[in-house]
Amino acid sequence: MAEQLTPMEMAQSQLKAAAEKLDLDKGVLEMLLEPQRVVIVRIPVKMDNGTTRVFTGYRSQHSDAIGPAKGGVRFHPDVSLDEVMALSFWMTFKCGVVGLPYGGGKGGVAVNPKELSQAELERLSRGYVRALYDVLGSEKDIPAPDVYTNAQIMSWMMDEYSVIRRYTDFGMITGKPIVLGGSKGRSEATARGVVVTTLEAIKKMNMHISDATVAIQGFGNAGSVAANILYNLGAKIVAISDSKGAVYSENGLDPKALEKHKDETGSVVGFLGGRDIAGGELLELPVDILIPAALEKVITEDNAPYIKAKIVAEAANGPTMPKADEILNKNGVLVIPDILCNAGGVTVSYFEWVQNNYGYYWSEDEVNSRLTEKMQDAFFSVWQMSTEYNTDMRTAAYMVAVKRISEAIKLRGWV
Ligand code: GLU
Repeated sequence: MAEQLTPMEMAQSQLKAAAEKLDLDKGVLEMLLEPQRVVIVRIPVKMDNGTTRVFTGYRSQHSDAIGPAKGGVRFHPDVSLDEVMALSFWMTFKCGVVGLPYGGGKGGVAVNPKELSQAELERLSRGYVRALYDVLGSEKDIPAPDVYTNAQIMSWMMDEYSVIRRYTDFGMITGKPIVLGGSKGRSEATARGVVVTTLEAIKKMNMHISDATVAIQGFGNAGSVAANILYNLGAKIVAISDSKGAVYSENGLDPKALEKHKDETGSVVGFLGGRDIAGGELLELPVDILIPAALEKVITEDNAPYIKAKIVAEAANGPTMPKADEILNKNGVLVIPDILCNAGGVTVSYFEWVQNNYGYYWSEDEVNSRLTEKMQDAFFSVWQMSTEYNTDMRTAAYMVAVKRISEAIKLRGWV
């Protein structure tokens, strides 16, 4: 029977592999296996038709050992306590691997935001902050965008928080629009980080981006921006999917034309520049680079043996199940793990918070060059760790992060 792990169990098994390699102190491991604090709230929202719906919201603060908790808020019908906890867990190690002065947090609301009007979405976003006001703050826990949340939602959340505090507090949330203290380059940052780490992996595999073929699962913020950057670097994007299906062309897709098609029709499906294929087929195409950029648990022990990509760049959080990981490693696929690959988003969130704190704003070039430097450094530390301990990149990424976090936990006297 196929592996049946929850996201939290996946995360824990990944950490345990690194803890074993590092012979990690048992107390530190115990501290890191579960979130430090989890809050569940009920959020009543007045709907446009006069009725009230009550949504369940979550905020999980996995660790604040090396700084305030940091991580996005997801609005998605499948949001659950377990998923939010796992996502906050991954944030701790994501910040740790890049060396950001943050712990891990994550929040979510179980809702399909596509069914809400803008006014209902605003009331829900404000309700989320009202319910969680006490545990949030620029020195406690700093939310950001995630699946189906965006700069507008961050603006409402920042405003609600500021109304309660009675002064405008930009630094309590990141991923804001530029005019409200957002950082240049933030909305493209996750994808840029994915591309920087992919380019490093390509060098290690003696490949060239201009000869590479790419399949991307997911055409949201990360997937679509990554498609555009890679296309401009000369890669051939042969397949792209969204939640409704996938489109494929051996000769390559034009991401800009596909974006236009999606804006007009609501999906990538039916794009005339390619032919429709099943979403699952995309993962098994004969490409050089596969970028899962959607949700968790899509690469499983069932499809992993058929993955032909040489590099899997995890733009999504938690796309690969542990048994699938083993199969990919055995088959010589270079997996750039999520906590490294998609860390560009939180890295520029950190830059945004720094800019808010000192009230001086950087140019886009400055943001991008600092981002590139941080992502390259992180890639090299993980690569070095993986060579030194003869282990896969995911375990090595955890090891880099765990070393930092465990030192902080010990110095603080927790263990
Ligand atoms: N939600 C993004 C992530 O999973 C960004 C988090 C942030 O910027 O704090 O990394």
